[in-house]
Amino acid sequence: MITFEQVSKRYGQRLALDSVSWRMDEGECVVFLGPSGAGKTTVLRLITHEIQPSVGTVTVGTFRTGRLTRAQRALLRRTLGIIYEDFRLLHDRTVFENVALAVRIVGRFADADVAPRVHQALEEVGLREKKNAFPAELSAGERQRAAIARAIVNRPAVVLADEPTGALEASSAGDVLRLLKTIHEEGAAILLVTTREEVAAALPGRVLHLADGKLLEGSARGTPGAIPAPDVAPGAPAAAAPAPAGS
Ligand code: ADP
Repeated sequence: MITFEQVSKRYGQRLALDSVSWRMDEGECVVFLGPSGAGKTTVLRLITHEIQPSVGTVTVGTFRTGRLTRAQRALLRRTLGIIYEDFRLLHDRTVFENVALAVRIVGRFADADVAPRVHQALEEVGLREKKNAFPAELSAGERQRAAIARAIVNRPAVVLADEPTGALEASSAGDVLRLLKTIHEEGAAILLVTTREEVAAALPGRVLHLADGKLLEGSARGTPGAIPAPDVAPGAPAAAAPAPAGS
């Protein structure tokens, strides 16, 4: 579903990702855990194709690194649902309109089909009775649930979440994490990035540790769907390659 092959990303002199390889399969849940500046948002922006790797290849479904056509970009947008720490709702639109806009943007549904889909998504996040409220009239937790409705309304294969509980107090953070777990159980893959260990612990699935642009040794090893790290004995030179057989 998503594959990074030896991906490095530079912003000018700053090496934000350093030869990162990992993969996740359809329906998996993966958490990137690491401190601020580790490269987590860069991973997400490479997946959305907002930025391109300096080196290496990023594959999302059938999309590989490179410039996408407008049609490909639209299809990728349908494949991914995104949740941000700061919600990114449109303040001059109601909850209903925020979610409906996401349906209209992908342009797949007739007008008559938009409202039932929006209502279904709002039902799932428990916000149906707030559909006519503006974001300013909601609590932070409700805003994030509205953003989750917007992320899932097109039934994306993968939900990307960038520190989704960062702006929430404990009880609404718990609600949001339970909701993400349910979305995962219903079949969506989830990729969440966070600085918080308790967030990683609250979700099922693999935790990959990212620090200073590198995946920590063992993070991607021995887990379903991971590209196995080379088996190197402690202290052995990391670059030692096995001798070719039969030579
Ligand atoms: P995280 O999400 O883990 O906090 P980021 O992926 O945002 O980390 O950033 C990784 C590193 O790349 C940081 O040192 C950050 O300052 C740098 N960086 C991120 N985006 C840019 C940019 N657009 N220009 C220059 N440096 C950037």
